[in-house]
Amino acid sequence: MGIGEERLYYANSYLWEFQGTVVDVRRDGEKWHVRLDASAFYPTSGGQPHDTGTLNDVPVIDVFTEDGAVFHTVTKPLSVGEHVVGHIDGKRRLDFMQQHCGQHILSRCFEDLMDVDTVGFHIGGEWVTIDLDVQSLSWSDVERVEWRANEVVWENRPVYARFVNPEELAHFSLRHPPKVTEDIRIVSIDGFDDNACGGTHPSATGAVGAIKVVKAESMKGKVRLSFVCGARALADFQRKTSVLREVGQALSTGVDELVLTVQKLQANAVSAQKQVEEAKEALAEATARELSAHATVLDNGTHVVLHALDGNLDFADLKRLGAKVREAFVEQVPACIGVVGVAGERLMVQLLSSAPSVHANEWFAASVVPLGGKGGGNRQAAQGSVPLSTEVTVQDVLQRLHSTLTKENPGL
Ligand SMILES: [Zn+2]
Repeated sequence: MGIGEERLYYANSYLWEFQGTVVDVRRDGEKWHVRLDASAFYPTSGGQPHDTGTLNDVPVIDVFTEDGAVFHTVTKPLSVGEHVVGHIDGKRRLDFMQQHCGQHILSRCFEDLMDVDTVGFHIGGEWVTIDLDVQSLSWSDVERVEWRANEVVWENRPVYARFVNPEELAHFSLRHPPKVTEDIRIVSIDGFDDNACGGTHPSATGAVGAIKVVKAESMKGKVRLSFVCGARALADFQRKTSVLREVGQALSTGVDELVLTVQKLQANAVSAQKQVEEAKEALAEATARELSAHATVLDNGTHVVLHALDGNLDFADLKRLGAKVREAFVEQVPACIGVVGVAGERLMVQLLSSAPSVHANEWFAASVVPLGGKGGGNRQAAQGSVPLSTEVTVQDVLQRLHSTLTKENPGL
């Protein structure tokens, strides 16, 4: 039995149903690897994934080759000698046929137009990739080659495959010599390309539908091109059109004006952010002045401020305020400042001290850490946060700060 008789897809890529006999079964835990005398199932090879389907209604979850033989992995046992009816998932296979034939066309166009070789090919779940033997590619070159590839699709050239012997092989000018020395199969796109290939292809290039490159990335001295063909190309185009429609509607602009509109929005956002920063800076300064004005001045001259900030703030706001308070009076007079504010689910605490008898970090450790707080600092400044809960409020934290301060520093 020649290899062509056993692998029915070689002669007919559209054979979704076939019959055969089980000739070998190998148990592998709860799986069985089954070999048939003839099969239309394509095994994972040459960049094309395996078919799925059923053998006598038992799902086929994997198809692979071992020493040239095709094994079908099933989840229920079949017995040697059993007659089987096989069904191939035609939708999955047609997808692979579109992608695989699209790859032959695209690779050949890169050879013809740019003298660039394809050195890798893989059909993935989403994209198909080829690795091109070139350092870099411009996107305009990609588009130029892509255009020619689609012309080949529109020309609807017949695609056919045949086995050749070494003498016949000599008549083909193949860019890549076949990887096998016997059962050499040539897939031809009429008048355009001959390629040694064991994969499945549609009967004419028109069935590829469309070829669309979606990404080109440089890696390890090569360029990896991701593309989609046929149904995948339409699905990709629909998805992207839908995104563009939504973005266009949200921005009240057409596709052609989209880039300019987004650039303007970005510029506006940068300027708005700058204004927000300026306003926050001014607010922090005003708050610092306010705190300074309301400080309790003790007999020893130490200024004490314990204050709860309004609204929701973030750590950057608190740090900004700390810097302003320091500038405003902590650096001028001995002072102990405790500021508390809500930031989402936490209470932020910032402590500043320029009073000789108050160590900010110790103050933090004695008053905030027992409430479940995390953070710390040094003699001059300490900051951190406490999880906000029904047991711990802003007032609780302020009270703790006050009592610790007076207990530890009775002279204050
Ligand atoms: Zn191929």
